[in-house]
Amino acid sequence: MALRACVIGSGPNGLAAAIVLAQAGLQVDVFEAESTPGGAARTMELTLPGFLHDFGSAVLPLGAGSPFFSTLPLHRHGLEWVHSPAPLAHPLDDGTAIVLERDLKSMKASLGADGPVWGKLMEPFVERWSEFAPELLRPVVSFPRHPFLMARFGASALLSAHSIARRFKSERTRALLAGLAAHSFMSLDEILSGAVGLTMAVSAHAVGWPVSRGGSQALTQALCAHLVTLGGQIKTSSRVAAVAELSDYQLILGDVTPRQLLAIAGERLSPAYKRQLAKFRYGPGAFKVDYALSGPIPWKASECGRAATLHLGGSFEEIAVSELTMRNGQPASRPFVLLAQPSLFDPTRAPQGKHTAWAYCHVPNGSREDMLDKLEAQIERFAPGFRECVSARRVFSPAALESMDANLIGGDISGGAMDARQLLFRPTWRNYATSAPHLYICSSSTPPGGGVHGMCGYHAARVALARWPWRD
Ligand SMILES: Cc1cc2nc3c(=O)[nH]c(=O)nc-3n(C[C@H](O)[C@H](O)[C@H](O)COP(=O)(O)OP(=O)(O)OC[C@H]3O[C@@H](n4cnc5c(N)ncnc54)[C@H](O)[C@@H]3O)c2cc1C
Repeated sequence: MALRACVIGSGPNGLAAAIVLAQAGLQVDVFEAESTPGGAARTMELTLPGFLHDFGSAVLPLGAGSPFFSTLPLHRHGLEWVHSPAPLAHPLDDGTAIVLERDLKSMKASLGADGPVWGKLMEPFVERWSEFAPELLRPVVSFPRHPFLMARFGASALLSAHSIARRFKSERTRALLAGLAAHSFMSLDEILSGAVGLTMAVSAHAVGWPVSRGGSQALTQALCAHLVTLGGQIKTSSRVAAVAELSDYQLILGDVTPRQLLAIAGERLSPAYKRQLAKFRYGPGAFKVDYALSGPIPWKASECGRAATLHLGGSFEEIAVSELTMRNGQPASRPFVLLAQPSLFDPTRAPQGKHTAWAYCHVPNGSREDMLDKLEAQIERFAPGFRECVSARRVFSPAALESMDANLIGGDISGGAMDARQLLFRPTWRNYATSAPHLYICSSSTPPGGGVHGMCGYHAARVALARWPWRD
């Protein structure tokens, strides 16, 4: 009889883990607390009927470029990537926008004097994305298969965004880098903030920054459908309160964060491991707003209409201040805002002629500050008249995000702070293994961390299979 395994949680990592186990011939059940699978990759009518909003992730470069997802026949289950003509636009106060072009040659040309430096930073990794992505999206502690490539990446990536920005002559290029690096939730003078900025740009050139047609739920649906073809099952509205309930299963993987693992499996874990888990640090949170709009956003800079993603925060210095203030535990007065306008490129998201927008800014973990006015002031700054287009809005404080996905502790969308220590050992030096035999953790609280790529689940399941049945 096939071994029985279960996965707690059906986020992208839980589903990736379940697929790897099912591919190996295990009988796999996935337990999901919410009524629909997907975790932070779900799409819902959050405002008005007919308006489809991504509850969590919206723009999926690492989903499209995921070394594991790319091996699966997800297109056969309806997944279609939609690319905007340019991945990203970053409007500025002079009424223009700097555009991140997907094509590296065009990008270099558009950057003028900064083009050669940009090219030198990006080229080796863009050209070798298929070798680079698997290295990037796995535990840092494993020995690289392409040591020279990774050494080259490390040389720039270990720098802060601040240090990398010094190489650029133009304020515009520096502003672009600041927005990319701010995805890290770090202050821009922290080491590794540069790595995140570079990775975001490299993925834009190598893969693009697509959305999935119909919303991120389409990726989830395709993963679920593929799992079902492998004999797996997804049981929704099934919150696991204690792993003791799962005695029918020989192997358990938790798509949960350390705090939840302690709550549901505490009695199975050693005191030392529990102490290590309790030391795991969560990162800043997100304050998010979904909009139903009567028309497209009235950007001052027409180039903004070419991109599905917008970075709203102005200059490098302004974005640096916003992120530093937030890192110091205060809400920023002019927050850096990430905005997506998927319906411009995917008409399935809204009734004809209408649009959706998705926007969030970074706040301290668990913050109760109402950031709505500040967030909308940043949109109005680059798109005067925006508020008049709003037919409905839905606001998610960090607590509201957590109430819809228990992994979003205090609004942390990355499954824990992504700093140097927690990148190396995530959530502990054991990475995916726990102190309990046959119990593993596979969420974004393990390497390589946040983002929709499924690689945490993929690696966790591979480690669990490699140890089976010799461990115990
Ligand atoms: C607002 C927001 C914006 C984001 N934007 C992007 C983006 O544009 N691009 C990108 O790549 N990433 C983005 N992310 C991050 C990305 O969505 C996450 O990193 C990714 O979803 C993590 O996947 P996961 O499987 O580890 O966890 P999750 O997706 O959080 O899934 C965890 C699942 O486990 C379930 N669960 C938890 N506890 C239990 C239990 N006890 N019993 C049963 N089920 C349980 C939860 O209900 C949930 O379904 C965003 C996230 C948020 C919230």
